[in-house]
Amino acid sequence: MPERLETQSRRLLRRLRDTLAEPGEGQERLDRIVKLIAASMQTDVCSIYLFRDAETLELCATRGLKRGAVHKTRLKLGEGLVGRVARSGKPLNAADAPAQRGFRYMPETGEERFSSFLGVPIQRLGEQLGVLVVQSKNARSYSDDEIYALEVVAMVLAEMTELGAFAGADSALTPLHKNPVTFRGNSGQEGTAEGQVWLHEPRVVITNLVNDDPEAEVERLRQGVSQLRVSVDELMRAATTADKEYREVLEAYRMFAHSRGWMKRMEHSIESGLSAEAAVEKEQSEARARLQLVPDPYLRDRLHDLDDLANRLLRILTGQGRETGAEMPDRAILVARSIGPAELLDYGRRLRGVVLEEGSIGSHAAIVARALAIPLVVQAERITTEALNGDSIIVDGTAGIVHLRPDESVAVAFRDKIAMETQALARFAELREMPAQARCGTRVALHMNAGIMADLPSLQGSGAEGVGLFRTELQFLLRNNMPRRSELVALYTRVSEAAGGKRVAFRTLDIGSDKVMPYMRRPIEPNPAMGWRAVRIGLDRTGVMRMQLQALIRAARGGPLAVMFPLVSEMGEFIAARDILMREIERERHLGHPLPSKLEIGAMLETPSLAFAPDNFFRAVDFISIGGNDLKQFFFAADRENELVRRRYDTLALSFLTLVQNIVDRCAEAGTPLSFCGEDAGRPVDALALAGLGLRTLSMRPASVGPVKDLIRRADLAEVAGIIATARRQGVENLRPRLLSYVDGLPRA
Ligand code: PEP
Ligand code: MG
Repeated sequence: MPERLETQSRRLLRRLRDTLAEPGEGQERLDRIVKLIAASMQTDVCSIYLFRDAETLELCATRGLKRGAVHKTRLKLGEGLVGRVARSGKPLNAADAPAQRGFRYMPETGEERFSSFLGVPIQRLGEQLGVLVVQSKNARSYSDDEIYALEVVAMVLAEMTELGAFAGADSALTPLHKNPVTFRGNSGQEGTAEGQVWLHEPRVVITNLVNDDPEAEVERLRQGVSQLRVSVDELMRAATTADKEYREVLEAYRMFAHSRGWMKRMEHSIESGLSAEAAVEKEQSEARARLQLVPDPYLRDRLHDLDDLANRLLRILTGQGRETGAEMPDRAILVARSIGPAELLDYGRRLRGVVLEEGSIGSHAAIVARALAIPLVVQAERITTEALNGDSIIVDGTAGIVHLRPDESVAVAFRDKIAMETQALARFAELREMPAQARCGTRVALHMNAGIMADLPSLQGSGAEGVGLFRTELQFLLRNNMPRRSELVALYTRVSEAAGGKRVAFRTLDIGSDKVMPYMRRPIEPNPAMGWRAVRIGLDRTGVMRMQLQALIRAARGGPLAVMFPLVSEMGEFIAARDILMREIERERHLGHPLPSKLEIGAMLETPSLAFAPDNFFRAVDFISIGGNDLKQFFFAADRENELVRRRYDTLALSFLTLVQNIVDRCAEAGTPLSFCGEDAGRPVDALALAGLGLRTLSMRPASVGPVKDLIRRADLAEVAGIIATARRQGVENLRPRLLSYVDGLPRA
């Protein structure tokens, strides 16, 4: 950058800072700033356009255009040259503006007198706040350095807008993070909550934007970057055994941390007058703006990496750690881009709700949120950019909607909804001690699904009769290393104790597919859901399964033990797994340890093939539990994790119900106890259909026990069976409409 321009840009920034430090209203400040920029850049016009709402830009201050146009001239996003800058997030430099595509003449401004146009976006961390424009009468083409200087000024303006420096009576002048915003994501865990935002990674606040001594500032940046490089190298060293993907991310970090282009651009910004941290943030803002335009997932990931790296550097430069000293609010709703399951468990029940920008329904964090019964919304795009610590927030986990800084009317409507839910909960609580006995007299046993210790208190609270599915793999997934046998014994003992004599069906490790243990090497599989998972791994690598079975036997301490194997696809697999368990029983006997007083060995029926197993399979098992989540995905060939197809097929399709009916009949013939433990068992109408087919044990998440019991008690299962039989006879494809109208006609409790 030429010396003249460099000092000019620095001088401008310093003046800008001084102007902003002076007392005054938002409008006064903006007026002073446009005057300052026009004088400093020797242009005839300088104007600031700010967003009034997501779609409309408003002329908020000008030097050179007609003053009467201020707060009157408005443009839609993409309209005219100003709208084009806002839409693209990129500068636009035109010596002959009226000849440009999209030029829109606005007579009220008197701009026809001006020929050249330079507009740069006012953006902060990828968020468009407005456009800064300079114009001149002569056909002047602005140099790259001038464009850069104007961008630097726009960056400072963006920060100041954010800090409320221009807050005034007019809505376009209020800082953006004050408006209500609604996010439509996906439901990760049902339920509703109202509270205050608690950012998992609080944003770094930059207060010094302008430097007085570029040399010292560049030195500070260099020191920060070398500290950053050291920390990335340390991460690399610590990750030697970690999985490939994590190492790839770190490699990308290292590459960015050593990127000369990145460094050069930041040094350039400092020479133009920005502080080291503002220079980092300028880069970060531009990367985020690019992020929004990049459809390629790989490139998006890399830009995310760069963003993370910039955050680390900002923390080094400002000394602001994650701990900001702020107190977590009582009604905290966690907002994060993504979060690991162990970190989420650390927060535990202190959270009212969780909102993630990424994350999927099947992610481990979602599993933990479900276990903790905390409403969760995933895929709430851009929420971490929008939300500030302490903002009011409403989470509708059932609909997958989040209201940030909601209007009072939205909050009131929402509170009504919560009140109704609370009333319903109170009604369900009254049913706690009552059986799920239908009007026809048939009883259905309702059990709950669990996976971590934190689940167990729900056993008493929900009124469940036992734990129909204990997902043992969660314990393995939440750690960084393989648990030892003694640790498992202690855990399973605590689980049984907490169950207070109620039956717990422990499912052996169901890993593979989406459940990946960070410390276990796995082959890359083309289709992991149909790959090497669950009992298939247990049978091929018996070490971990044997260790787990030993722990289960010991934890039974001479009491009853129920074990089931996941994803059994053929009778042979069940027999082989049972043999391993029996060998471990023998071994324990040899060692003189007490043996379970009653041993039940079951299989999860999760693949259609097992429904067609030989008769003697049904006699060989002590019990069968239908894993409806997997059974359904394999039956319909629709990936349960894939949003595009996940909801496409219905449990109440007669085809699927016929498969379940077949299993019910075969178990009845063999006298084998049968339960259903997929998520559908927790949906009242679906549960009613299952009970109508003859299932007498359903296992579900604890929060579903009350609603399912309530419906079963009001219904008559013989009538439900009749509806199913008629529908089948008439060739109806889906039972849901008929069952819903039956439920609608039932008397209220
Ligand atoms: C199922 O597949 O229905 C099941 C209960 O197991 P998971 O959801 O853990 O795969
Ligand atoms: Mg399953």
